[in-house]
Amino acid sequence: MKTDAFALRHIGPREEDLAHMLKTIGTETIDQLIYETLPDDIRLTAPLDLDPAMTEYEYLNHITKLGAKNKVFQSYIGLGYHQAIVPAVIQRNVLENPGWYTAYTPYQAEIAQGRLEAILNFQTMVIELTGMEIANASLLDESTAAAEAMALLFDVRSRDQKKNNVNKFFVSEEILPQTLSVLETRATPIGVELVVGNHENFGFSTEFFGAMLQYPGKYGKVYDYAGFIAKAKANEIKTAVGADILSLVKLTSPGEMGADVVFGTTQRFGIPLGYGGPHAAYFATKDEYKRSMPGRIIGVTIDTNGNRALRMALQTREQHIKRDKATSNICTAQVLLAVMAGMYAVYHGPKGLQYIASKVHNSAATLAGALEKLGLYQINTAYFDTITVKADAAKVKAIAEKNEVNFYYPDAETVSIALNETVSIADLNKIVSIFAEATGKQATNIDSLVEGNQFPQSLARTSTFLQEDVFNKYHSESALMRYIKMLERKDLALNHSMISLGSCTMKLNAAAEMLPLSMPNWNNIHPFAPLDQAQGYQEMLQKLEQQLNVVTGFAGTSLQPNSGAQGEYAGLMAIRAYHQSRGDHHRNIALIPASAHGTNPASAAMAGMDIIVTKTLENGNIDVEDLRQKAIAHKDNLSCLMVTYPSTHGVYEASIIEVTKIIHDNGGQVYMDGANMNAQVGLTNPATIGADVCHLNLHKTFAIPHGGGGPGVGPICVASHLVPFLPSNPIIPTGGDNAITAISAAPWGSALVCLISYGYITMLGAEGLTNATKAAILNANYIKERLAGHYDTLYTGEMGRAAHEMILECRPFKQKGIEVTDIAKRLMDYGFHAPTVSFPVAGTLMIEPTESENLEELDRFCDAMISIRKEIEAATLEDKNNVLKNSPHTLAMVTADVWNFPYTREQAAFPLDYISENKFWPSVRRADDAYGDRNLVCSCAPIEAYMEN
Ligand SMILES: *Cc1c(COP(=O)(O)O)cnc(C)c1O
Repeated sequence: MKTDAFALRHIGPREEDLAHMLKTIGTETIDQLIYETLPDDIRLTAPLDLDPAMTEYEYLNHITKLGAKNKVFQSYIGLGYHQAIVPAVIQRNVLENPGWYTAYTPYQAEIAQGRLEAILNFQTMVIELTGMEIANASLLDESTAAAEAMALLFDVRSRDQKKNNVNKFFVSEEILPQTLSVLETRATPIGVELVVGNHENFGFSTEFFGAMLQYPGKYGKVYDYAGFIAKAKANEIKTAVGADILSLVKLTSPGEMGADVVFGTTQRFGIPLGYGGPHAAYFATKDEYKRSMPGRIIGVTIDTNGNRALRMALQTREQHIKRDKATSNICTAQVLLAVMAGMYAVYHGPKGLQYIASKVHNSAATLAGALEKLGLYQINTAYFDTITVKADAAKVKAIAEKNEVNFYYPDAETVSIALNETVSIADLNKIVSIFAEATGKQATNIDSLVEGNQFPQSLARTSTFLQEDVFNKYHSESALMRYIKMLERKDLALNHSMISLGSCTMKLNAAAEMLPLSMPNWNNIHPFAPLDQAQGYQEMLQKLEQQLNVVTGFAGTSLQPNSGAQGEYAGLMAIRAYHQSRGDHHRNIALIPASAHGTNPASAAMAGMDIIVTKTLENGNIDVEDLRQKAIAHKDNLSCLMVTYPSTHGVYEASIIEVTKIIHDNGGQVYMDGANMNAQVGLTNPATIGADVCHLNLHKTFAIPHGGGGPGVGPICVASHLVPFLPSNPIIPTGGDNAITAISAAPWGSALVCLISYGYITMLGAEGLTNATKAAILNANYIKERLAGHYDTLYTGEMGRAAHEMILECRPFKQKGIEVTDIAKRLMDYGFHAPTVSFPVAGTLMIEPTESENLEELDRFCDAMISIRKEIEAATLEDKNNVLKNSPHTLAMVTADVWNFPYTREQAAFPLDYISENKFWPSVRRADDAYGDRNLVCSCAPIEAYMEN
């Protein structure tokens, strides 16, 4: 046996444990188990056609060599992306720290107070810099945030505007090109008409419900929008402003100008370029729109003892929960990147940000002056960091690239130069020398920065920001390192114990997969750099696309969508374009089973489809007869079926081939939600079950860490007839011959983290991937059998097996006064994060152990669940003062002088032996959701601000 095979590191169960596990399950071999689990007619017969697996050492050599094919130039391209300095203390302690990157979305607030606080810092920073009232916990990128702003303004139109179908949306021609493309994608299907023009000539007609501006404009010009916004408001037109976050340190905020929404990216707050992402977009609005806001909001509340606690606020408002009524499908966002950007603000504080913004501004002013001496005049009458000069673009480009410098060239006579935090005086002199050579003149040397003041007095920011303690006390490295550690200790992540979240696949995020993210040759490339500077990336991305084609059985892949939900939307838009290309403009009905994830109907609604829900049988399977009837009834207008496979109930439904055939026979396409791909890889695939397109969650099945709620990558893989419609990008062409407009801002979405999935597949190879799937099924069935007799499994396949996950029945415990939430909270005392609560069936738990967990960890988890089951047995409906209802138990509670509970401290905190070796203490008692929603506070305001009178 090759003991250096990566598969042995990734897959948990050891060879010597198999006999015991299989015996518990009641089967002879793993292959026998797979036979009893997976229907015959969908099984692959040949191994995946992938390259031989590399060891970790081989892979790291390979990826270093491949990275050398990327050329790291100084990029002054701008357009929403700027080189940034990632503070080393944040890189090491957050980005490279599994305590942060392996955490799950903070649904279990009591064991997530650390990242909740970090996100609250991010929200506070956004609220104050933009001058708005409320901000969310991040969105996917600036361009999709713009589309969300448009959708929000459309949703909050006045009653009259809705009645009169006022549907025009004005977009300034100063908007970033990639944002315009994403707006185009998103506008048409929901019935919004975009009108692009010069905002200075806009007529404020009542045919418009909203307008969007860019601040500063795409090539750096700064406009005073106060007059525009006031006039718009007088005409009942609401305004959204895309704003550069660093410029807001020096410029009057859009909030102070009266904007209704402010959005943008926080990439330049210490996040690497990464060839396009991941970066955290921000979104801020007025309090009155909080219920229409996309994304998650972190809010302040109290716990059982009245102490401050944080949790996700207004959960019922979370957009995708509104299903077909949703105006956004956002689920995974960019939490890890938001944490980093927030920490950047914590580390630098208001003074540090002032220094950085001034340095960038002064650099631009100094450069403008030096170029003027060469006779080159700058056309931005006011600017922050970007100057635009008239010069021979081709000539400048040739000399610049020789000097390893990138500018942006809007046309043949224009060069745009966006400066950033990294720029030194030597860099400025290099830029000047490039222009000197291009103009044949002598450059004068810059030896210091001039004091810039290159915008009107009316736009100079006068309001203060980031005065709170947290932004003013962690400015030494020791202080910040300890602050980050203090928060990390409050959070339970995969580096403490398994997180068995059904449908979310929290598997190992291997260090060897993560290391390349820190390599400058990978993380420092601008998304719009010329292709010849990104050959390493191009090779890696193409290879990953091919690998995903092999895994899914499809013909083409787009890596552009940066979450699963974005993938759903992209796939549905490709289906829509396909129908339209055949003249079938009327095909707009999507059939969606009742058990589907909320993002499915939300995505279909955004794609302009009418949703028809199909029934689920008693045993959890698709009601094939109901589906057939509905497909036939709507055959003239059928667009597609959205189906999750294995089902959201954790079962490989035997009817799947029949189901996909029914849809095709009636003119529809089959969309497969690939969130459960971990149960398919190497055993079956979407093409084999008859799907036409699927998205994959690379942040589930393909090892990208969850990051506490993002980043994600949600590529779509499509059959050959859909390849022509894969999405494009307006700056760097991507996608099919008949491509739909952009889904995300960057041509290859969050390219940097695609490295993780590429590493995962490359190191596992065909055999390792298939064995991983088998081990995932083995682990799930082992848990199922160990818990049998204690908990019922709701649904199984025809031979009584689970797939890679299972749903545990918890509703009968209500008779003892115990809710599923009580089990989730009690698990914290045992050192475990709860499985998925109440999805897809309310009152149940869905467990997915993944292949990465070994037998010891599975047994600890099962022991905890069984012990809790005994506690449930002892509970009574009358007496709520029990160990479950009072859970989780904090250290403060257990060590308090007073102990008035009818069980011992040991029963509370150390109910099983294994716990004492590795005790995790929840830092708060149960967070009170209702209290926090009544008193919504989502910034780090002092405690008095949220105390109820
Ligand atoms: C996770 C998930 C999604 C959404 O993916 P995001 O990346 O969070 O947008 C969609 N469908 C199912 C079944 C999922 O589990």
